Amino acid sequence: MASRRSHIDGVNLLSRLLPDPASVRLETWSLEPAPASITVTLRSRPHQTRCPLCGKRSKRTHSRYERTLADLPWGEHAITIKLGVRRMFCDSALCERHIFTERLPGVAAPWAKVSKVSPAKQVE
Ligand SMILES: [Zn+2]
Repeated sequence: MASRRSHIDGVNLLSRLLPDPASVRLETWSLEPAPASITVTLRSRPHQTRCPLCGKRSKRTHSRYERTLADLPWGEHAITIKLGVRRMFCDSALCERHIFTERLPGVAAPWAKVSKVSPAKQVE
């Protein structure tokens, strides 16, 4: 009898490898032979986020956009992460920032072009 782990399909395996499964979920993935690349599309999960300027919680979504991040290659395959994130309204009348991008600190730093890979996750 095969072990339960042998039945994990590719999508489930990728979902288990997400950088921060509590804040993002896997939407799609694709494997291209030439040039060898893997593209993973992630989307932020609904969660309360705070304005980075005043700290007030926001529940109102302004819009969504997609960030493109590079990750460490897997063998000869370049890894690209398409990360769908939300722009949120800050509803504090006293705050100077009216719209901000949600933060996903377990996935990528704001404005980063590469995913957040801690040294402990890198294989030497
Ligand atoms: Zn604010």
